[in-house]
Amino acid sequence: MAEIRVRFAPSPTGYLHVGGARTALYNWLFARHQEGTFILRIEDTDADRSKPELTAAILDSLKWLGLNWDEGPFHQSDRLDRYRAVARELERVGHAYPCFCTPEELQLKRSRVGSGRPWKYDRTCRNLPEPERQKRLAEKIPYVLRFRVPETGETSFEDRVFGAIKVENQEIEDFVLLRSDGQPTYHLSVVADDVDMLITHVIRGADHLSNTPKQILVYNALGANTPVFAHLPLILGPDRQRLSKRHGATSVGAYRDQGILPEALVNFLALLGWTPPGGEEIFPPEAMVREFDLAAVSKSNAVFDPEKLAWMNSQYLRSLSLDRLQPLVEAELEAAGVQAATFLPGESFQKTVALLQTRARTLKDFSQGGRAFFSDDFEYAADARKKFWKDPALHDLLRQLAERLESVEAFDIAQTEECLRKLAEEKGIKAGLLINAARVALTGQAVAPGLFEVMALLGRQRTVGRLLRAAEHLSSSAPAKL
Ligand code: GLU
Repeated sequence: MAEIRVRFAPSPTGYLHVGGARTALYNWLFARHQEGTFILRIEDTDADRSKPELTAAILDSLKWLGLNWDEGPFHQSDRLDRYRAVARELERVGHAYPCFCTPEELQLKRSRVGSGRPWKYDRTCRNLPEPERQKRLAEKIPYVLRFRVPETGETSFEDRVFGAIKVENQEIEDFVLLRSDGQPTYHLSVVADDVDMLITHVIRGADHLSNTPKQILVYNALGANTPVFAHLPLILGPDRQRLSKRHGATSVGAYRDQGILPEALVNFLALLGWTPPGGEEIFPPEAMVREFDLAAVSKSNAVFDPEKLAWMNSQYLRSLSLDRLQPLVEAELEAAGVQAATFLPGESFQKTVALLQTRARTLKDFSQGGRAFFSDDFEYAADARKKFWKDPALHDLLRQLAERLESVEAFDIAQTEECLRKLAEEKGIKAGLLINAARVALTGQAVAPGLFEVMALLGRQRTVGRLLRAAEHLSSSAPAKL
């Protein structure tokens, strides 16, 4: 069997969104599974809407996801002459013809059909007598080049995901190949490239399903073999509407900024339309490559569930080796303006990361909820204050706790705990009251790792300092309202 060659062909008119990333991933998985070639092609023929910085951002997102390509990136803007040559060849052999109808004329005809009703080019110029056509060409009247769709018969193909698709040729418009300014249309450039790049499988979003019959006609007209087509199901938001900005972040970069790990996003995207044979949820890339099968891709719409992504991210985050996690946390802290290196010497930094790792859901948890572990510059969260700093006696209790902790012999988990419990007992209060209040004082949060672990990690000086600071805060500010 010929070598498998697939491509991902984004248009750089926006960032890489999750739908595009899923398409890239499925192409990549298929290529890796088949030991084929994964090609990256930038479809930037729309000079007005394509931006080099968006191309750069797309490449960046693909690299971040780990979707390495074998050939390219090829830029369609470098191949305009090639598309024109293909269009001329189609014209020469009678599969394309010049159309002189102006946009205004076409608009008028369309409006006569009535809004909302489908309109198809009425083939006025297809039937021009040859002398008339030659005369207009000689007069240099602007024209587009249209594809001459067969009047009878049908165009059919077997989509790997959607099954048999058949369209009557009379339903298909004589679509434009070259615009009047010589710019190729998508249908022309995509087929010319897929033929030249020896693409064997076209894997792309289901929004291109209806384009496929037109493109097959072009393949046939060029005498080229058609590739196998596999269209991927649409991605919907939790409300079953097509995923869009309304549903929140849709670009890969936005998820990266939210502290999502690339391996979690890849895993999550892989399951948007494909179920591994064993039905596993957590599925590392090597296993995906081994198991991936286009035949197992579903044509039912996939639902993007952000909660599931968050869950998956926490699973990956918790199982990450410290060697890999540590630099990610460092970068996250740096981006948040936290100078952790001066705050924590190497080993304590590692211990702190390990402690926070067990409950983190995203990398943000290290720089936001976990900020107090890496810096003295942190705030008391409003919910935590409200919940655990209600008792007016607390400022005094926290001060006394600080004083006692000054003199515990070994500042470890056991002795700090003993010290706190003893104080609570003497004062006739529940230890929990003091534990919760101290947690807010030390971490700024209502929820954090075990208090005595936190104390041991922070050390005597910081623990005492923070308890006194909180006591002062409590005595100077009005008690939190209930
Ligand atoms: N540039 C097209 C898109 O971004 C690619 C279509 C295709 O894969 O054929 O939708």
